[in-house]
Amino acid sequence: MNADDCIFCKIIAGQIPCVKIYEDDAILSFLDIGPISDGHTLVVPKQHYEQLHDCPAELLGRVCSRLGKIAEAVKKAVNSEGYNLLCNNGGAAGQLVEHVHFHIIPRNADDGVFNRWPSYKYEEGRIETIAETIRKNL
Ligand code: 5GP
Ligand code: ZN
Repeated sequence: MNADDCIFCKIIAGQIPCVKIYEDDAILSFLDIGPISDGHTLVVPKQHYEQLHDCPAELLGRVCSRLGKIAEAVKKAVNSEGYNLLCNNGGAAGQLVEHVHFHIIPRNADDGVFNRWPSYKYEEGRIETIAETIRKNL
């Protein structure tokens, strides 16, 4: 997806309205229009990059440097017990808007959000093989 077709670029350009939380020269934060809990907030770089690994480290640093402060404000505002930080990358991972973004999702015990975490155990030796392959790709 290029920037011309991107809904978040249109929001950043002011062509589509949003409920703004925070803005500076590098990032914009606004409430998600389809929340999974009250206060569900998005944080996006103003420049268009599709996925996390496309985003230059310096810009990613700018985005991440604001996440804690915004998340704390969200948590306080909705009086939640906790929150999840989520960044979907790729359609298989649930990314619908192809402009890198972080979700801040307020959470409370037994709220039923993300109540399935399909954890399993590696077979013998597999964890080392996978780690070695990841290191080679760094
Ligand atoms: P993704 O699945 O790509 O990680 O999440 C995209 C998010 O953007 C969804 O949670 C969706 O509700 C939100 N979203 C999509 N279009 C709009 C919009 O026009 N305005 C706002 N505020 N949020 C949007
Ligand atoms: Zn965009």
